[in-house]
Amino acid sequence: MDKRDVFVQIDQMEEQMGTLYSELGRMKQHIKELLEENKRLSLENQQLRKLLKDVDHADAELPLVPITAAQAKEITGEGHDNLARLYHEGFHICNVYYGHLRTEGDCLFCMSFLNK
Ligand SMILES: [Zn+2]
Repeated sequence: MDKRDVFVQIDQMEEQMGTLYSELGRMKQHIKELLEENKRLSLENQQLRKLLKDVDHADAELPLVPITAAQAKEITGEGHDNLARLYHEGFHICNVYYGHLRTEGDCLFCMSFLNK
């Protein structure tokens, strides 16, 4: 094989590696989007199931009484717990990137929100 052929081959390999590298980047982005969509759908599913359960229980005709301050606080606490869980599962809960996968570790916006 003559020297020029070797350089031509190396150039071709370099080009192929470049293509592979950008393909890898695209795949990584795609996986990230799939994970985010999966989380969105499972949360939606969870909320719909809860709603369905509530509709079933509505048949029991519960009297409509205003909730007490303690009950309201409990409900708010539950929301906070859900958000904290979501954050620890690796998703943003801040209003800047809500629902997106945290790929860079902790997020200061989320942290300040959690500490409220
Ligand atoms: Zn965040």
